[in-house]
Amino acid sequence: MEFFFQRQYRGPLKGILLDWAGTTMDYGCYAPAVVFIEVYKRKGVPISVDEARAPMGAHKKVHIRKISQTPAVAGRWQEAHGRRPNEDDVEAMFREFVPLQLACLADYADLIPGTLEAVADFRRRGMKVGSTTGYTGDMMKLLLSEAKKRGYEPDSTVCATDVPAGRPEPWMCLQNAMNLGVYPMEALVKVDDTLPGIEEGLNAGMWTIGLAKTGNEIGLNEVEIGQLAPDDLKAKLARACTRMAKCGAHYVVDGIEDVPAVLDDINARLARGERP
Ligand SMILES: [Mg+2]
Repeated sequence: MEFFFQRQYRGPLKGILLDWAGTTMDYGCYAPAVVFIEVYKRKGVPISVDEARAPMGAHKKVHIRKISQTPAVAGRWQEAHGRRPNEDDVEAMFREFVPLQLACLADYADLIPGTLEAVADFRRRGMKVGSTTGYTGDMMKLLLSEAKKRGYEPDSTVCATDVPAGRPEPWMCLQNAMNLGVYPMEALVKVDDTLPGIEEGLNAGMWTIGLAKTGNEIGLNEVEIGQLAPDDLKAKLARACTRMAKCGAHYVVDGIEDVPAVLDDINARLARGERP
């Protein structure tokens, strides 16, 4: 047999999966960062903002574990406690993390400018809107109600706690596809402000769009971004774009308001028979 024939999906995008903090709400992805810092401070081990933000996107308990495995943090823990941090410490910090995070989530629930307009665009295209998150079910319950008050209501939301493992594994995306009744996976696109969130989409066989400006990569809110010197902002955006592109993101844009234009490009590529 000299010829093989391959099936190709050449239809348009049918679904979009949006991250939460840093993508649709909480410009700068502050809510989790401030609580990770507080939880470590209470253990007598201060951590930097960069250390707090590095594993962003993961299940929050996994995130606490990853911070504890950072060599510099483990070293400071050793100085403070006379031993390395262990799994009991991670469990104890996660127990402290949950109520602290729940208590301040609503303070960071404002939508990122352009979210409602972008979601309206996705719906005009006939696309389903799903979402994935590293937040737990209880946290998402609170955020879903805050988002609804502000006019944003996705068709499906899957938390890291709903599936066997969170990011970068693909299960939250695949569960969304089932909830939305949408396939094949190349007809879906993942939008996220973190590297584990991009990997999650890639692992699910989806198109991926990284957001460089509004989320964890720069880690500043809209006012703070506005105060940056133009060259400083340019350098920060370039760094974020490079990191996301190297992670495999198909596209990197500033924020959700730039996503509709990218969808036109992906639809053209699908029509030519390209795959993610
Ligand atoms: Mg995020």
